[in-house]
Amino acid sequence: MHILYLRTYLLRSGNLVESQKMYINQCRRLHLLRNQAYVNGEWVKAKSNLVFAVHNPADDSVVAEVPDMDSKDAQNALLTASNAFQTWKDTTAKERSRILRRWFDLCEKNTDNLAEVITAESGKPLAEAKGEVAYGNSFLEWFADSARHINGEIIPSPWPNKQILLTRNPLGVVSVITPWNFPFAMITRKVGALMAAGCTCVIKPSEDTPLSALAAVELAHQAGVPKGVVNVVTTSRKNAPTVGKVMCEDEYVRCISFTGSTTVGKILYGLAAKGIKRVALELGGNAPFIVFPSADIDHAVDQAMLAKFRNNGQACIGANRFLIHEIVFDDFVKKFKARIEKKCVLGPGTKEGVTCGPLINNEQAKKVSGLVDDAVAKGAKVLSGGKFAKNLGNKFYESTLLVDVNQDMQIFKEEVFGPVATCIKMKSEEEALKMANSTRSGLAAYIFTKDLGQAFRMSKNLEFGMVAINDGILSAAEPAFGGVKESGIGREGSLHGAVEYTDLKYTLMSGLDK
Ligand code: ADP
Repeated sequence: MHILYLRTYLLRSGNLVESQKMYINQCRRLHLLRNQAYVNGEWVKAKSNLVFAVHNPADDSVVAEVPDMDSKDAQNALLTASNAFQTWKDTTAKERSRILRRWFDLCEKNTDNLAEVITAESGKPLAEAKGEVAYGNSFLEWFADSARHINGEIIPSPWPNKQILLTRNPLGVVSVITPWNFPFAMITRKVGALMAAGCTCVIKPSEDTPLSALAAVELAHQAGVPKGVVNVVTTSRKNAPTVGKVMCEDEYVRCISFTGSTTVGKILYGLAAKGIKRVALELGGNAPFIVFPSADIDHAVDQAMLAKFRNNGQACIGANRFLIHEIVFDDFVKKFKARIEKKCVLGPGTKEGVTCGPLINNEQAKKVSGLVDDAVAKGAKVLSGGKFAKNLGNKFYESTLLVDVNQDMQIFKEEVFGPVATCIKMKSEEEALKMANSTRSGLAAYIFTKDLGQAFRMSKNLEFGMVAINDGILSAAEPAFGGVKESGIGREGSLHGAVEYTDLKYTLMSGLDK
């Protein structure tokens, strides 16, 4: 063996012993911690035996090491999913519904265990992690019910002796690529839907948060999800592009379901196009939060706190631009500032009373502070926060409120994905609409008004997939979640979410008179 390889080998084997010790210790604390990938109903290593570390963003400690799989591992998992599809597609909707229901029951029972894992790797406060589990579980429950309502149609035929049948058939293998901000719910939202439709999948969770995915499939395993129906391939950031390529281009794949940045979404869409694969893309947003003079300002401020600071601003539907009418601007800003300073408590997610955790990683921290610095350099004024809370660590950014923001600043154009609220004065409905729509994104928008006509006009003219009127939270399993423009293609949740994973088949029954 070459000396360099030998050294790497020895280091690696040494690391493995250490990491096993660490893993055993962590398992005492995190009951659903799994440190292997999941393929064909088994816990497996990467073929290369390589691993990568998953860090706790609150203190940079290593939570666990998981397999760093490559394109060969991904191919193997896709083959497994393809084999499993041959039987899963023929299960009855009732059977699939029952299995999903069992998975839901187990996830609900394990809420605390799942939440601990989510907090350990994503940094979000434990209470929010439990909220994510409840939200994620609601998709399993919803799709357990929906599985039995994916109906076909019989259409009156133009011919007397023939009948036209339209049936909904599962697409096949779905590649699921998920982000770190809702590491559990983004999985159940996709996998619940595709399983209900009769598809199988390979999940590639974010390199920042693979442990929530592994915890979720541990419970799927316990729930009796047949082997090969759900597989998880863990991979480092370095391997993500090559694994992603296989997950889009492999012959077994019929659909790519992705939630993440618009930049990566465009890459995957391009790869999927080569094989005419179905895509379900949930990409970035740049949500306007619009307050008109007739609004109840106290209520609008309450909702602004939820729309902005949930998950520390790291949500694609998070309010990104506060467009406040000049008549109520000062009142709104004064109350918003007071509320931020009272309610936003920064710290590690495991600490009692903390409402805002760390940012997920150094790149994200750099991006958020860079956007604030750019805005300030161009004339924005900081009313609250505006810097790192260095005493807590290197990823804790203070909850920030900026005014005097204009459309030339980067922070107006880009999705902040952090705890920074920017308030901009507007004078009319037309101006608000123009500013709100002046973005390539079109995911969620929030409007506060008591004028019914204005609510309808705004909802009609906002170029966004989702519009909340007088509310700062709109996600649930029942409505259709998704965006227009560069925010994505397809819908998640609702019955539409399951139908996305089916093809319509037309069968002509002829000769019925013979
Ligand atoms: P974020 O900025 O929210 O991390 P990304 O779009 O970078 O969003 O990441 C979302 C998911 O996409 C993660 O699972 C990540 O590993 C994956 N990813 C990143 N780059 C690629 C790529 N080139 N091909 C496939 N997946 C990728």
